[in-house]
Amino acid sequence: MDVLETVSDLREALAGPRRGGRKIGLVPTMGSLHEAHFSLIRAARAECDTVVASIFVNPTQFGPGEDLELYPRTPELDARGCEQEGVDLLFTPPVEGMYPPGFQTKVTVEEVSREYCGRYRPGHFPGVATVVLKLLNIVQPHAAYFGEKDFQQSAVIRRMVGDLNIPVEIRLLPIVREPDGLAMSSRNRYLSGSAREAATVLFRSLEAAAERVRAGERSAAAVLKTVREVFEGEPAAQLQYAGVADDETLEPVESIRGREHLLLAAFVGDVRLIDNRSFEDALG
Ligand code: AMP
Repeated sequence: MDVLETVSDLREALAGPRRGGRKIGLVPTMGSLHEAHFSLIRAARAECDTVVASIFVNPTQFGPGEDLELYPRTPELDARGCEQEGVDLLFTPPVEGMYPPGFQTKVTVEEVSREYCGRYRPGHFPGVATVVLKLLNIVQPHAAYFGEKDFQQSAVIRRMVGDLNIPVEIRLLPIVREPDGLAMSSRNRYLSGSAREAATVLFRSLEAAAERVRAGERSAAAVLKTVREVFEGEPAAQLQYAGVADDETLEPVESIRGREHLLLAAFVGDVRLIDNRSFEDALG
């Protein structure tokens, strides 16, 4: 595995594989890698000839007062993990390599970014869309791999790729969870003892919602009421939002038909967690 820090070094390293007609896969991450990241890398490894992983804690997707400085960074462990999983090229640019002096472009994907995380984290999705577009332009992969855990992010990226005719296949992979259901996240390491236990409320509320759908409920409002009730039983966690949204447009829907996701965000102490679930399996 080669570790590259500059755009020009990475492009040089990719020139050979590209000339040779090899299929290039990109796995963008912010590092502090865990099993879910490795599941994306494994999918890329299985489907592509040359696997590029990037590790970049993107400052433009963090708002003021968010956890940019505190975001976990484990570069040596990450590099070892990438090597073990068969990454060919690891791209770890410094901030000034991605945002040199004079940088002033921002990509905004309007409606898909509006609700849910977009409402509570203004600037987040423009930051994500901009950095992902940069990475797609730098690597020019045939396929790029993302996780369903960040469902709204994936909708923003899919929309951007369609709108801007970016020649890449977006591969979306399932949420990887801890044995008790908590979705894996780099931020989970900030959850101690009782907070770690309380954090399972996100998964529990999603499952309770799915149970209602399984029992015949089709009203989004009724399902969201169930989510709120589960949260009421867990005072250590505060629900920030819960909504049922169309898979493509992310617009709130009133009834559940099978092409929606239940999306939620909650705080456990200072730690903000997100999770989501489709109802496909519950509709029978
Ligand atoms: P991050 O490093 O948090 O920016 O995540 C990098 C990629 O990994 C994104 O596409 C995420 O959606 C994905 N990812 C993070 N956690 C999970 C998870 N628990 N399950 C599936 N994908 C995940």
